[in-house]
Amino acid sequence: MKRTKILTYRFLEYIPRDIEEGVIYISMTFSTAIHKCCCGCGQEVVTPFGRTDWQLTFDGESISLDPSIGNWSFDCKSHYWIRHNKIIWAPRWSKKKIDANRAYDKRLKDRYFMAVQEKENRSDRKIRLADWLAEKNILKRLKNNSLR
Ligand SMILES: [Zn+2]
Repeated sequence: MKRTKILTYRFLEYIPRDIEEGVIYISMTFSTAIHKCCCGCGQEVVTPFGRTDWQLTFDGESISLDPSIGNWSFDCKSHYWIRHNKIIWAPRWSKKKIDANRAYDKRLKDRYFMAVQEKENRSDRKIRLADWLAEKNILKRLKNNSLR
């Protein structure tokens, strides 16, 4: 198996069906990237962008991803950073560390999505209030009209 040392990036709207090794395909439309595991095992690694997922940095010449990529669900269990298109290999994690990180990640996500949900609920209430007021006004106007 050949390890990837340098990734080439491609910005596309849609991720192609067949992806090449050594290329990271980035879709801004879908806020996600995909590449083949840099260890050479051929598994496809999907890295969605988001505040609780990966953050993509593009400096005009190269891309970096944060945090590191830990392919814990693959047999290879590879772990690396993508920094300015370069693959920087990181140590493998123990199962304990992987589990702890998963739990932490989940808590972070839960908290984030709860905050988003809360915000949506709030704007939902605002919309409902606006609807209600609009309806009331219409009713008032209808009443006034019928009185005339
Ligand atoms: Zn791999």
